[in-house]
Order: sequence, then structure tokens, then C-alpha cells
Amino acid sequence: MIEKCLFCRIASGEIPAKIVTEDATCIAIRDVNPQAPVHVLVIPRAHVASLNEVTSPALMADMLQMAREVAKQEGIAASGYRVVFNTNSDGGQSVIHLHAHVLGGRHMGWPPG
Ligand code: AMP
Repeated sequence: MIEKCLFCRIASGEIPAKIVTEDATCIAIRDVNPQAPVHVLVIPRAHVASLNEVTSPALMADMLQMAREVAKQEGIAASGYRVVFNTNSDGGQSVIHLHAHVLGGRHMGWPPG
């Protein structure tokens, strides 16, 4: 049997998570290890390993639409926020299922660590 990945299991409801919002394509959950006062992950329901494997521009549009809705809902749209796609090893990706981090509620430094 093929093991489902962590975010596939969260997206299907098999593993509980703090859901911020969801639609037919994506689910947004609170990160278990928040790096900012607001730290939400936007996760597509379908398994895609990383940004490198995305074939659908519509999926990216859906994820970014949800990311900005989350920012609005969390009250950080005007103050500012960051949307991050960590990709593969040097990018710091630890869960191999595409996701966008939505971070805000504090000033973000540059360059990132
Ligand atoms: P990345 O390192 O970019 O792959 O991001 C993976 C993120 O998933 C990290 O910020 C983790 O804190 C977060 N994470 C891991 N397990 C869970 C979980 N069960 N629920 C919510 N967030 C998680």
C-alpha cells in the first residue's frame, strides 16, 4: 500500500488540523510551529510534490487567491504579509507536498535566513 503524505492526510480530514478556510481545491490551516503571529499554510488537496512539479497555472491562481483571502481574514492585508513557497532542500522544504506559507503580524526581515 502506498503511504499518503502528511498534507494529503490533513487535506482529507484523516489528521486533524486547525482549519482557517477551505474550498474544493485547497485547504488553509494554522502551522503547528508558527514563525509569526499569523502563520497559515495553503495546501492543495491534490498531491503535488513542490512548485517544480506544478502543471496547472489555475492551481497557482487558486492558491494565491486563498493566500490573500487568508491575509484579509486574519487582518494583515493592509499591514503586510509574506507568501513563501519553500522548494526542495536549499529552499527549506520539509513536507514534500506543495504549500504556501502566509506569514504576517510582525515585520519580516530581508534577506530571509
Ligand atoms: P516546509 O518546511 O516549507 O515544508 O513547511 C512545512 C510546515 O508544515 C512547517 O512550517 C511545519 O511547522 C508545518 N507542519 C508540520 N506538520 C504540521 C501539522 N501536522 N499541522 C500543521 N502544520 C504542520
